[in-house]
Amino acid sequence: MIRVEDIGAASPGSGLSGLGHNHPGTSLSISMDIVIAQNLIKDYNGLRAVNDINFSIHQGECFGFLGPNGAGKTTVMRTISCFLPPTAGLVTVFGLDVTARPSDIKSRLGIMPQEDNLDPDLSVIENLVVYASYFDIRKKDSLRSVRELLAFVELQDKADAKIDQLSGGMKHRLLLARSLVNNPEILILDEPTTGLDPHSRRAVWDKLNDLKFRNTTLLLTTHYMEEAEKLCDRVAIMDSGTIVTIDSPENLMALHGGNLENVYLKLTGRSLAD
Ligand code: ADP
Repeated sequence: MIRVEDIGAASPGSGLSGLGHNHPGTSLSISMDIVIAQNLIKDYNGLRAVNDINFSIHQGECFGFLGPNGAGKTTVMRTISCFLPPTAGLVTVFGLDVTARPSDIKSRLGIMPQEDNLDPDLSVIENLVVYASYFDIRKKDSLRSVRELLAFVELQDKADAKIDQLSGGMKHRLLLARSLVNNPEILILDEPTTGLDPHSRRAVWDKLNDLKFRNTTLLLTTHYMEEAEKLCDRVAIMDSGTIVTIDSPENLMALHGGNLENVYLKLTGRSLAD
């Protein structure tokens, strides 16, 4: 039996050259569930935000949560990230219970927030080195790997720039690089391209596709159906705390007709502006 721990566990300081997990074509390239939610319920002071949902996410896939505002997407992502305990039900990541083993799980996750929370007092490279120190990666070990990460997101020329000298697209790419400093097995992205111009959006998609190729599991929320179509192997369409359907964009489009936006409108009865 292959244990999850056997497959490309995060190796602090291993850098981008070590980035990637269970590369396609290797003998370990089998599909397995890296996240499992069973009968997940989350209440906030009596409000049921997530209502008894079940899903599993396969190792190496890109999985998207779609749905109108208030559907429960962020709550589910925060539960997987071990920031919110479930009210009821079981959520496991890497086979570990999120309520029992949060630190072990978090050390193997990368999280790219929607908002820019980079430190404006530090340079681009210092932002990465300081973030790496939170994972006990020493400066001496992290310098080479963060330079590789800067090259990966095409910011190598900006290593010594201050954050306020970066464009919005560059900040997004830096946030992506920062989320990779611990060589995560799962990368969690909250609306990774919201607010970006089309060119910058494509640049982020390219990087996420590179990560997919390296077999990093990607979990994202998005309001852009084109983004979900381009990146996601499967999507969960959520509404009012429940999962309406889980399938590949291709299957959903074949089943319901039209593009993914048409499917979304049909299944949720909502417009994308909701
Ligand atoms: P989405 O990400 O799909 O927009 P959320 O998970 O943010 O949905 O929210 C689901 C529901 O839970 C909404 O009704 C929202 O108002 C509520 N909610 C989210 N966070 C909190 C919180 N911290 N306290 C109380 N209610 C919350």
